[in-house]
Amino acid sequence: MHKLLSSLATLAAIILMTTSAHAKTLADYLPDDVTYDPSVPKPADVLGYEVGEWHVRHDQLVRYMEVLAEHSDRFQIEYTGRTHEQRPLLLLTVTAPENFANLDELREQHTALADPQRKGDPETAPLVLYMGYSIHGDEPSGSNSSLLYAYYLAAAQGEKIEQLLKDTIILLDPSLNPDGLARFAQWANQHKSQNLVADPQHREHVQGTPRGRVNHYWFDLNRDWLLLQHPESRARIANFQKWRPNVLTDFHEMGTNSTFFFQPGIPTRRNPNTPEENVELTAKLAEYHAAKLDEDGRLYFTEEAFDDFYVGKGSTYPDVQGAIGILFEQASSRGHAQDSINGLVEFPFTIQNQFDTSLTTMFGAHENKQLFLDYQQRFFDAAYSAAKKADFSGYVVGDNSDPARLHEMLNILHQHGIRAYALERDIEVGGTNYAAGSSYYVPLEQEQYTLIRAIFTTDKSFRDNTFYDVSGWTLPMAFNVPFNTFKGRRINTSDTAWTPATESTSPELPADAYAYAFEWHNYFSPRALQNLLEADIHVRQADKSFSALTTTGEVAFDPGTVVVTRAYQSKPWAEVQAQLGTIAAANNLEVSAITSGLTPKGIDIGSGNMRPVEKVSVMMLVGNGANMYEGGEAWYYLDRHVDVPVSMIDTDRFGRIDLSRYTHIVMVDGSYYNLDKGDADRLRRWVRNGGVVIGQQGGSRWLAENDVLAAKFIEDEVFEEKFDTTNLRYDDMDSFYGKRRVAGAIFGVELDTSHPLSFGFPRTQLPVFKDSLNAMETPEQPFLSVAKYLAEPLLSGYAAKENREVLAGKTAVLAHRLGRGRVVAFSDDVNFRAFFYGSAKLLSNAIYLAPAIRPSANPSEDAAAAAEAAAEAAH
Ligand SMILES: [Zn+2]
Repeated sequence: MHKLLSSLATLAAIILMTTSAHAKTLADYLPDDVTYDPSVPKPADVLGYEVGEWHVRHDQLVRYMEVLAEHSDRFQIEYTGRTHEQRPLLLLTVTAPENFANLDELREQHTALADPQRKGDPETAPLVLYMGYSIHGDEPSGSNSSLLYAYYLAAAQGEKIEQLLKDTIILLDPSLNPDGLARFAQWANQHKSQNLVADPQHREHVQGTPRGRVNHYWFDLNRDWLLLQHPESRARIANFQKWRPNVLTDFHEMGTNSTFFFQPGIPTRRNPNTPEENVELTAKLAEYHAAKLDEDGRLYFTEEAFDDFYVGKGSTYPDVQGAIGILFEQASSRGHAQDSINGLVEFPFTIQNQFDTSLTTMFGAHENKQLFLDYQQRFFDAAYSAAKKADFSGYVVGDNSDPARLHEMLNILHQHGIRAYALERDIEVGGTNYAAGSSYYVPLEQEQYTLIRAIFTTDKSFRDNTFYDVSGWTLPMAFNVPFNTFKGRRINTSDTAWTPATESTSPELPADAYAYAFEWHNYFSPRALQNLLEADIHVRQADKSFSALTTTGEVAFDPGTVVVTRAYQSKPWAEVQAQLGTIAAANNLEVSAITSGLTPKGIDIGSGNMRPVEKVSVMMLVGNGANMYEGGEAWYYLDRHVDVPVSMIDTDRFGRIDLSRYTHIVMVDGSYYNLDKGDADRLRRWVRNGGVVIGQQGGSRWLAENDVLAAKFIEDEVFEEKFDTTNLRYDDMDSFYGKRRVAGAIFGVELDTSHPLSFGFPRTQLPVFKDSLNAMETPEQPFLSVAKYLAEPLLSGYAAKENREVLAGKTAVLAHRLGRGRVVAFSDDVNFRAFFYGSAKLLSNAIYLAPAIRPSANPSEDAAAAAEAAAEAAH
């Protein structure tokens, strides 16, 4: 051999050694106490690399599962939905081959455990495990370990696994957030060097916005299990409800400097509806995880972190339904390898832990099969007897102002297997009238009793006041739908439970009219208005109430009503009518046909208070210094619920863009640290020239600090001074700061419903979500404050008395003119997690109704404007 060739070969060998130094082979991962069927394709056969060498792409993960389903008679694959970005959502059913012949029967045997007539038999019913992975896409060790777990399920041979598969149905959901997993895999892989860079400051370990954690619209899907606003959650919950598993796993990652965590979590922070026995069973499985990790000397901890309180999280949702939800948290390599205080954290190591605990969960649950199945049956028995013993028999919910909000709420209940029945007679409960046709009864006596209690809870005091997530999520409050407990024994309802309508029931548009009108109350009225503007239809909006003569007699209309006149249309009236008909049907709106411009009461159709609506062009600041979640929520709401295209501009580019393209700028929560004085001056000039800027939380604060918004936020010291700090011990620190925060609760505000920003709101009181101490001083000058916190503002969840006292009467919504433009400020997030249908319209109002806001923060400007208006009127 030539010398050169031989040294090249040595060099190649060295290169190979470097690249493979971190690679772990399949055999390294797998337990060696079983044999593996050699005919089952290995992950590397499909991926082209070993598990952990690269971050698996979602399409590769899907492909591998499909290949296993083709090769293994233990596997069945289903496509249960698609993500926003159209990635398939998978569910693999894994069991003994002979079980597939009677899968439906096995499912019925299992779900019958919830039957109060005790038709289910825990001795013979199959155990059901829901194995879910990486709901946070940048916590990828879970999904990458599902490759190994699936291989094991398909290939492992021997008595132990075969018996397990006979007794068990495994529902394998390898990626709970495909769009996020795909985003992070792309990020990590594109930055991978041949020589892995473990420096935590290296770009691979520091993602930009949006991070892989979130789904397409930047939502945390591990908060959506209850709210079901996203396709990933809806598909998953349908599977969950269909199967009612005994155990559900939820594999995550945490900070790189940590070790490994599995539940039980902090004992005092579990949901009060979760039985003690649930914790005991969780602890039972923990012994199996611990034994495995002890064997290899790996570090872990339990009970010190992560609460199990909010039922919209994957590890808590199952706990109130007779199942055991288990959270696993692995220290993240967030990339291929990263330095930590404990040494080097390598991706394959993180995958190993998740794989091992997948097996310990599965075998641990199987060895204690009887305990889990008995517990499940007892859970539902206990739920029925608690329902019988409760001091009320159910909830009445109803709202005749807006079927859209009410139906979306009922739809969520329906997806969770909760039945609601239409009232057949009007009743009054607790001083509220519930009308037949727009009211429903949710009886406690049904399988989902415990979940119902968790959904409708308005608890305000708790065992432990520190919350990892929200403490209040009362569904009817979020939807601004009145509800009461019903204590009577008899109530007239329909026999069949509510189900979603399969087709639109919107009536036909009357043939001819002077003008058409629809109310602003409906949740989708803003979308209909936007659709009309997009169709180049001339639209007017009423700033005052009126009654008009219509084809069905005299009809009263509230302020905010949208009117389409025959006058000023740029296209034939018949064409306008056809388009309006389509838009009204699509948004399920009832449209009245007005026959004359002269109205019996209030403003006429040609009034100056019937304001022409202009097309909007909305921009939102995102990226550095802006809150990713709130940006996503505003984007989602405007895009999906209002059909408004939103230009998203990075804060870093603000100084270089042409602002004249936009009519509205949205600034959600954030510090906006990278906007300077010049940027503020520019924004102020743009507003003075007619722009509308809308702030939310920190966005509003920034506007106030930069003299765009004329408002004063309550200083932190005002809250701080209220708290007594004498006699605090060192170990009171966590609970003290837990008390100081408002981590997420529902507050009540009083709306000035005569203000344009409140048009379309059915009542003066509105529940809003609050997760900060942001609040504005109520200005002495009248007409600026639109909503104030109630004297006792807390409606549901935890907030310390000291904080509530400061917040009472403070301003939550404030708006004013600035030059020719408008400034609108919200203290809170009005679209929280996309399920606050009740307050979301504030954002639409800030967009479409801003031109109706008249007062300026500078009273002399108001006086001048009034004089100008008077002069105009005098002509
Ligand atoms: Zn996570």
